[in-house]
Amino acid sequence: MGTLTMKFGGSTVGTTTALSQVVSIILQEYERQDRLIVVASALEGVTDALIEAAHLAGLSNRRGYRRIVATVRTRHLSLVEKLPLNANERTSLNADIDNLLFDMLDICQSMSNTATEETVPQQTIDAVIGVGEQLAARIIAALIRTKGLRSTHIDATEIIITDDQFGNARPLIDETRSRLAAYVQPMLERDIVPVITGFIGSTRNGQPTTLGRGGSDYTAALTAVCLGADEVWMWTDVDGMMSTDPREFPGAQVIAELAYEEVAELAYFGARIVHAHMIGLLKEQQIPLRIRNVYRPQQPGTLIHTSPKKHAQAIKAVTSIQGISLSTKRSGSLATIYRVIDAAVQESIGNTADVTISAQSSAHTFICVVIPPVIGPEGAANAQRKLRDHLENHPAITDWSIAPVGIITIIGSGISDQPHLIARVFDTLNDIPVLAMSQGPDAHNLSLVINVDDAPRAVERLHTLTITDA
Ligand code: ADP
Ligand code: ASP
Ligand code: MG
Repeated sequence: MGTLTMKFGGSTVGTTTALSQVVSIILQEYERQDRLIVVASALEGVTDALIEAAHLAGLSNRRGYRRIVATVRTRHLSLVEKLPLNANERTSLNADIDNLLFDMLDICQSMSNTATEETVPQQTIDAVIGVGEQLAARIIAALIRTKGLRSTHIDATEIIITDDQFGNARPLIDETRSRLAAYVQPMLERDIVPVITGFIGSTRNGQPTTLGRGGSDYTAALTAVCLGADEVWMWTDVDGMMSTDPREFPGAQVIAELAYEEVAELAYFGARIVHAHMIGLLKEQQIPLRIRNVYRPQQPGTLIHTSPKKHAQAIKAVTSIQGISLSTKRSGSLATIYRVIDAAVQESIGNTADVTISAQSSAHTFICVVIPPVIGPEGAANAQRKLRDHLENHPAITDWSIAPVGIITIIGSGISDQPHLIARVFDTLNDIPVLAMSQGPDAHNLSLVINVDDAPRAVERLHTLTITDA
């Protein structure tokens, strides 16, 4: 009993089977909880498709973006066709699909007419990609209304107010809190289940923004914090937070409990199952987070909270992401190169690099820039291109070379207080060369920079050191 926020990921809303699970979970929790808030992501793959459509519109490729929008439309229409909806709901959903996608096409059309540059500004991309979440929220609300619940979809552009860092916007908590209090709180009091679009928001003056890739998680945390939820449950397609990405390594194990700090590092350094920025919000209010499998709701999932059980053996998970290295055969001040890195990263991903890992000897300097997953799959490649342009145009630093690298991160509370664990890490890596390393100052993570081709076998080897206590 209490207030619960449940977020359903894109992996859980794309098929009739998955949606029937979603509906039964909502019905069950509706009976158990006093208040229920639902957050919906776009169907899996839809956001990627919409981003591609926006890029094609920016290149004036009319045929390209129209083809993508037509595919997205057919996918939603045929899903709605198969769902157990009453006739009125089905008719109005079909109309919503057409209206929202035609509006989106109008924006693409004007982008295409006015396209001048090769790259489309993120602000323009944000203006069109939220339609995936708008469609999914309408579908879930209609399904649960058909089952007799009182429910309404809510477009978060009306309630999540953000800064203007398009593509990776940060919420303005006070404004968002007062919008949620005005629009959503009264619904909860009247037993209405709001189904809120994840991922999207808008600036104070109404321009659409997005909260970074995987941003529906952030929406769930925001609504929970602002509406005083007791817990957040994120329903996805795996049994919980695991010792490494189960899609890449089938040996991955579920982790029963984790501390907020551990999950923040896991998310930042590559586990896309959780959006890194949501964790700080939940931690501040000590709101527990559960990650659960929509297809196996009987499984306990992972509980993330303040006091997970401590382990003598602390390595719980291993992650891998791509980074960019810059190196030169000399040492000296890093002020100029850091300024160039900041400018290039700012241009490509909209904000400066949060984390760099560096190592210097008297005859060599090495810097690695970490591009977090919220920037999306193209983030590292875009940043690398920009860095190359900047270096070429900066006479003082032309001797730096750039290469993609792998960043492997080992996570567990107190890792760096246990030198024997670090010794085992290096022993296990065996012949894989480490280019640089960084021990997180909070002792929860150890990041190793390695050659990009070594990343899969490094994860496989280091994963043998994890103990999950599942
Ligand atoms: P959703 O659509 O539910 O938000 P995501 O694709 O964003 O789902 O996140 C779930 C996926 O995250 C899983 O299918 C899995 O492949 C991936 N993943 C990466 N690292 C991990 C990890 N350490 N534990 C669990 N899943 C992980
Ligand atoms: N649909 C968005 C994305 O693909 C947000 C999310 O899935 O959480 O990034
Ligand atoms: Mg996600």
